[in-house]
Amino acid sequence: MRPASWIPLLVVALLGIGAWWWSASSPPAAAEPAPRVVEVAPRPETIRPAARPSMVPLGPLSPLSPAPDWSIFSHPANPPGPEQVLAEMAEVYTGSNSWKRWFQVGESELVVDTGDPTRRVIVPLVPAGEGGESSLTRYWRPASEFPPAQPDRPLRGVRIAIDPGHIGGDWAVMEERWFQVGGDPPVKEGDLTLLVAQLLAPRLEELGARVSFVRSDSQPVTEERPDSVPRPDGSEQDPGDAARLAERLFYRTAEIHARARRINEQLQPDLVICLHFNADGWGNPAKPTLVDRHHFHLLLNGAYTDDELRYADQRHHLLNRLLQRIHPEERELATEVAAAFAERTALPPYLYEANSSRAVNVDGNAYLWARNLLANRLYLCPVLFLEPYVMNSTLDYPRIQAGDYEGFREVDGRMQPSIFREYAGAVAEGVRRHFSNHRPVPLSEAEAETEEP
Ligand SMILES: [Zn+2]
Repeated sequence: MRPASWIPLLVVALLGIGAWWWSASSPPAAAEPAPRVVEVAPRPETIRPAARPSMVPLGPLSPLSPAPDWSIFSHPANPPGPEQVLAEMAEVYTGSNSWKRWFQVGESELVVDTGDPTRRVIVPLVPAGEGGESSLTRYWRPASEFPPAQPDRPLRGVRIAIDPGHIGGDWAVMEERWFQVGGDPPVKEGDLTLLVAQLLAPRLEELGARVSFVRSDSQPVTEERPDSVPRPDGSEQDPGDAARLAERLFYRTAEIHARARRINEQLQPDLVICLHFNADGWGNPAKPTLVDRHHFHLLLNGAYTDDELRYADQRHHLLNRLLQRIHPEERELATEVAAAFAERTALPPYLYEANSSRAVNVDGNAYLWARNLLANRLYLCPVLFLEPYVMNSTLDYPRIQAGDYEGFREVDGRMQPSIFREYAGAVAEGVRRHFSNHRPVPLSEAEAETEEP
């Protein structure tokens, strides 16, 4: 969490970036891959691409986002029906009806505004016919599509990418995920999440999973640095503000984009587990405020705001997640993991304000909230985004300071397990339950032996 004093600065920065991208990103329509599906506007004789000035943008894009390729949606393999689209958009992906300005749901097709007045995308909402090749590739599989597995190896063959949140180490101060109480060792969120990742991986592997790390040390995944990251010219007049904006573009935007490329292009997992520790506003990191409450919640992708839907790349990602049917799998996984977490930790749920514009409750489950984060939007598979504990709470801070250990120890006057093992164990148990419940059980030994490695 961030001190409230940053919020106005952030708003100004985001407005500046938006304006900059509007003016700076100008991929001409002709340079894009030839669209296979895309329908041309009603009056091509008056809006010919060749007649358009080459600098006309296709619509605003989020910072560092490439221009989206809409042609991938020509033949989704197994698209949702119109009722499913309407329900998912209303219940999870948005908080108001203004999405209908961009997405029009018909009986057998979905018409999407690309931001380019000459091009709309028409997506069929009926399954492709026999032999029809799908244009929309999906690298992940839901639990129900895996071959049978023995009950003690429910994750056999499941590819899981663990994404330890933030960078940690020497970068923790810059990314504002650092605080220190007196002479205690400082708390760096990025180091805590890496420790949980190292404890979680063997637990998942024991259940049969093939685990990869999105980050395995305290270094950025991105090659960019604050002085190299593309910077919006003139968006910040004050040199100090400009420097801080460049830092955020580096450790947040460029870093998550680099992680997304690693996930979507190299690792191609069946699910990603994003590990975080929550915090309350701690004020001065060298003299942090400690609070006496803690909580847990799990984030799913959704709750796109009206402003976010103005960005063509965000509509593109939303549509991709919708057509790949990511949400139903993500929700079932999240439900199991939240239940396991609640049982093992007794953490109460974190509740967003009832009329929040940035969060939408999912299924009436107090632990599950949809939010449109860069990571859970860009990672194109089910994403479990965990926000347990409060690092600067009087309940969790002593456990963090106690470090990792086996079994139970007296911490803060109570016998308690290591907070890191408790975290890893709860996640592994939830994922195990999901695959145990949804994956077919083998009829025979032979069937389990013949499955892929
Ligand atoms: Zn975090």
